[in-house]
Amino acid sequence: MGRANGPTGPDREHSTITGQRGLFGSAYQSRGLGKKGDTMSHTPDDTGAAWGFATRAIHAGQEPDPATGAVAVPIYQTSTFAQEAVGQHKGYEYARSGNPTRTALETCLASLEGGTDGLAFSSGLGAESAVTYLLRGGDHIVAHDDLYGGTSRLFNNLLAGFGVEVTYVDATDAATVAAALRPSTRLVWLETPTNPLIGIVDIAAVSARVHAHASGALVVVDNTFASPYLQRPLEWGADIVLHSATKYLGGHSDVVLGAIVVRDAALAARLRYIQNAAGAVPGPLDCWLVLRGVKTLAVRMRQHEANARAIARYLTGHAQVQRVYYPGLPEHLGHATAARQMSGFGGMISADLDGGRETAYRVLSRTRLFTLAESLGGVESLIEHPASMTHASIAPERRAAIGIGEGLIRLSVGIEDEADLLSDLEQALR
Ligand SMILES: *Cc1c(COP(=O)(O)O)cnc(C)c1O
Repeated sequence: MGRANGPTGPDREHSTITGQRGLFGSAYQSRGLGKKGDTMSHTPDDTGAAWGFATRAIHAGQEPDPATGAVAVPIYQTSTFAQEAVGQHKGYEYARSGNPTRTALETCLASLEGGTDGLAFSSGLGAESAVTYLLRGGDHIVAHDDLYGGTSRLFNNLLAGFGVEVTYVDATDAATVAAALRPSTRLVWLETPTNPLIGIVDIAAVSARVHAHASGALVVVDNTFASPYLQRPLEWGADIVLHSATKYLGGHSDVVLGAIVVRDAALAARLRYIQNAAGAVPGPLDCWLVLRGVKTLAVRMRQHEANARAIARYLTGHAQVQRVYYPGLPEHLGHATAARQMSGFGGMISADLDGGRETAYRVLSRTRLFTLAESLGGVESLIEHPASMTHASIAPERRAAIGIGEGLIRLSVGIEDEADLLSDLEQALR
């Protein structure tokens, strides 16, 4: 697989930390980390763009606190900021509009996704809601037909009430997406890899088709399952990257947070306005938890991936397993696309078991290390039954049509010892 560090796509010049105000965001430009003759080998014009991924995860937006020298970004637990005179302040006025801990996280995430601007929200769905405020009644969305359930709920049950229409298409075929575009299409909403069948969408192919169309629609990619370590949609032509940071970015199952990254100044300004006006902002402690999680994203993703590969191999050879869904397997439908647009295949696996729901439930009740729970992306391994848990709200006939069977189980492979995970599955499947 290709390297995961550093921007590799055609848009390397976009991979800079720019345009952020405040204590941390502008520091790379205004002070320069290398200024005081330090011995670190930073490039002179340090925007962080020259650094590899793991370095940016630890340093982008996170230089020592200018006020105290604190190495860890402080949790600025304050709702407001003193002004020296009316309108004269240090870049922060009221904490819904901006908070230094949040700025540090937003700067870091922008850097990791190869964008110019990051925006943090109170949840992944808070971030999604903010994107939908770009729309007005009569506008149209083309969405992949295999989306996170909460996203379709937002579209079908809330957005529809405002006169926004959504067409669901199989976005694994870029021509199908193009055929669904209308003059009123404002957003094309993708998710890859998807959930729970780990489907893969070719971001570059879809983006090229959408951008060639007169509608001027923006391509949104929910990058939650891959994380920027494995996939950076902006480098493949997407306009907006979205995250449930609750999952891999946070990585420890202890915080709910969402994020958006873009690389267009006007779009960033509009979203910044919406973030403040609609108000779904995260608190500073939650920002700090994600910032801490992100520091180890590179090492965590490598281990998630290594464990997942071993488990996918093991399940593929198991007599009780009918089919394994993992993009790292050569027989997976999206394997070639995943191999091209991702630098690894991630930590999510699904598998169809012989014996339907009964077998699935038995396995779920027997695992000891794999905890029975929804969610994903944490250091601990989780297991669940999509048909009765994460995807229960989908009508049974529709579930069957998509391929979410009664014997399907989904694993979020954690970073425990590979041998322990394998023997846990072994005893549960026996
Ligand atoms: C969890 C999830 C969301 C929603 O994020 P929250 O932080 O739970 O609001 C959106 N998209 C995907 C792919 C998810 O897994």
